[in-house]
Amino acid sequence: MKTNKSINLLFAMLFIAVVTYAQDRPTIEPKLTEVWEPVPAKITPGENNAPPSDAIVLFDGKDLNEWTDGDGGLAKWIVEGGAMTVKAKTGVVKTKQKFGDFQLHIEWRTPAEVKGDGQGRGNSGIFMMKKYELQVLDSYESKTYSNGQAGSLYKQGIPLVNACKGPGEWQTYDVIFMAPVFTEKGSLKAPARITVLHNGVLIQNNFELKGPTEYNRIPVYTPHGKGSLVLQDHGNPVSYRNIWVREL
Ligand code: MG
Repeated sequence: MKTNKSINLLFAMLFIAVVTYAQDRPTIEPKLTEVWEPVPAKITPGENNAPPSDAIVLFDGKDLNEWTDGDGGLAKWIVEGGAMTVKAKTGVVKTKQKFGDFQLHIEWRTPAEVKGDGQGRGNSGIFMMKKYELQVLDSYESKTYSNGQAGSLYKQGIPLVNACKGPGEWQTYDVIFMAPVFTEKGSLKAPARITVLHNGVLIQNNFELKGPTEYNRIPVYTPHGKGSLVLQDHGNPVSYRNIWVREL
């Protein structure tokens, strides 16, 4: 009965294979795979982009108390109608507080009255740690270089899509920023990373920054600690509102 022997052998091999596979991935008592500590802190989320209960509110439409100008003096931008607007030639505004890793919500609006084109139309920008610019620009129907349009990491990262609304409309950025990490000797251990949602749409997916933003040079990292959030005065009356961060 040669055939029977072959079948028996086949079954034996199959049995061994199943047992071996099961031993590779033994089952575990389900209770032993439950993790109960730590318990995440309970927070209250905000409705319609309002800050959650654990956020630091940087601008609620009323005043610039959380901000200074570039030199640490009084911030000179215009606060009106629940928004702050760039006052040309007064320079940047920056937060008094400094941040490392954070989640940021910020709303911006380029002027309803369209003037200029390319980089000259509704240009501003949000600098993480004073160094890494997320571009703010009217890129609705206005051509410029892709790594300089709205939602770009200026001269480094092209947005995945153009999710711009029109001039005069409020738009949102939701940002997750991870600061660069340096060794004790000052060399780069991990680059800065940034994820950005523009009007709720993913446009930067864990993008690895090449270094601080440069206009006409190759970016190079130098060691630094936490830094202010900075909003750019590019001469155009761009407005901001509802700005909050959560430190991570
Ligand atoms: Mg800019």
